[in-house]
Amino acid sequence: MSPTSPCPRLFLGARVFDGTSFLEASDVRTDANGKISAIGVDFRRRDGEVVHNLAGAWLLPGLVDCHVHFREPGLERKEGYSFGSKGALHGGVTTVCEIQNNPPLMDSASILRQKLHHLRGISHVDYAPYGSLVESSLAELPAIKGLCPAVKCFLGCSTGAGGVRDEEELRRWFTAAAEAGVKVVAHCEDNAIMEATKKQYAEQPELLNRHDLRRPREAEVESIRQAIAVATEVGVHLHVFHISTVEGATLVTAAAGRGMAVTGSTAPHYLLITADEAHLAPQHRFKVNPSIKYQEDCQGLGRLVQQGFLPVVGTDHAPHPLTEKDRPYAHAASGFPSVDLLLPLMFAAADAHQSPPEPFLHAVTQGPAEEFGFQQKGRIAVGADADLVVIQPQLGRVVDEAQLLSRSGWSPYHRRLLRGFPEQVFLRGHEVFADGQILGPPRGEPLFV
Ligand SMILES: [Zn+2]
Repeated sequence: MSPTSPCPRLFLGARVFDGTSFLEASDVRTDANGKISAIGVDFRRRDGEVVHNLAGAWLLPGLVDCHVHFREPGLERKEGYSFGSKGALHGGVTTVCEIQNNPPLMDSASILRQKLHHLRGISHVDYAPYGSLVESSLAELPAIKGLCPAVKCFLGCSTGAGGVRDEEELRRWFTAAAEAGVKVVAHCEDNAIMEATKKQYAEQPELLNRHDLRRPREAEVESIRQAIAVATEVGVHLHVFHISTVEGATLVTAAAGRGMAVTGSTAPHYLLITADEAHLAPQHRFKVNPSIKYQEDCQGLGRLVQQGFLPVVGTDHAPHPLTEKDRPYAHAASGFPSVDLLLPLMFAAADAHQSPPEPFLHAVTQGPAEEFGFQQKGRIAVGADADLVVIQPQLGRVVDEAQLLSRSGWSPYHRRLLRGFPEQVFLRGHEVFADGQILGPPRGEPLFV
C-alpha cells in the first residue's frame, strides 16, 4: 500500500443505489486501490478495514456533473477549480466535465494538456474538461480527441467566446468533428431569432426585460432542429446540453428513436423553476442561458427524465459575483452556481415530479458516465472507482448560501428547504468530505492524460 493509497473500507447495511436501482440492506467493500471490490450481504470485517455502519442510510455512487464552468485558467476571480471542486463535493459530485467558456479556449492539444496537468493538486474531484469546437481548433481535433470527452460548440451567443456564425460554418465545424471522430456537445439557441425578438420588444422595456421572452422557446427549438439536421447530414455524434423546452427535448429523443447519434441533457433549474419565478427572483439570480421556460416545459422535461428518455442532467454551474448579477437586466451576468447542491436538487426534482428518485439519480450518475464513456464512474459495481456518497435521504435542511463553497458566495436556492444533502463523500476510497467540511489535500485526477 503506497502512502497515498486509501484504507480498505467496509460499508455495512446501506440502501445501495447502484446507478440504476436500489439494493436493500447491502454491504460494499472497497480496496486499497480505491476500487469497489465486492457487493453483497453479511460481510465480515477483515483486518485493516475501516467499518462504516450505514443502517438506515443510503450509499450512492459519486455524482458526475457533465456541465460546469470553473473558469480556470483565466477567470479564477469568479471561481477556479479549488473553490469549484469543493462546491462539487458539497453537492455529492466526484467527477466534473468542465467547459472553458472564457479565454483561453481549449483549442489545441497542448493547451488542454497544460490544463489537465495544471489542475493536479488543485482539484478536489476528478475532472474531464471538454475541448472547444471553434475555427482555431479544427485542425487540432484529431489530437484533442483523446484528451477530452467531447468538444463544445456554441450555436448562438451566450456568455462565452467563439459561437457559430451561420449554417455553413456549422457544417464545416461538425464535419471536422465527424472526421476526427469526436463527439460534439452543444449550446443551442438561434441568434437570428433572439435578435429579431430584441427588435420586436424594443419599445416595450417591460417585455424586453423578461429573459424568457428575450431568449424565447423558438430560439432553442430552431437551433436544436438545425443542429440535429447538420449533425445527421455529416455523421457526427451530437449531445445537446441544458435543454429548456419540451419541444427541443422531443426533437432530440425523436432523433435518437430513429437511430441517430443524437443525445441530450437538461439542467436542474429547468426541472424546478418556471419563467415567472425566475423573473421575480431578486438580483436576476435565475438569469441563465437558455432562459428558464414554462410550467409545461418543466413538467414535460421532468416526464422525459422520469421515463428514461432524457437520462442525463448537468448543472451548468456558472458562478459570478453577486455584484455582476445585481445590475439592470441587460447588464446582469447570465448563469449561477449550482454544482454545490446537485444531489439535493435532484431529490427536489424527483419530488416535484412525484417520481421515485431512481431516474433522477441515474441522470447524475450512471447516465452521464455512460454518455461520456467513463466506465469506472457513476456506478456502484465491482471494479468501479470507490466514489461514494452517504446520505440520510429524508433529512431536510434550509439552504444557507453563506455555508456554500463556491467563491461567488451566493445561491439562487438560498432559503429553500431541500433534502438528501451528502453527509460523507469518498473519492477513489479516500474520505474527502464529511459534515460540511473538506477533508485532506486535493486528490482530483484527470480522466484523460
Ligand atoms: Zn454552460
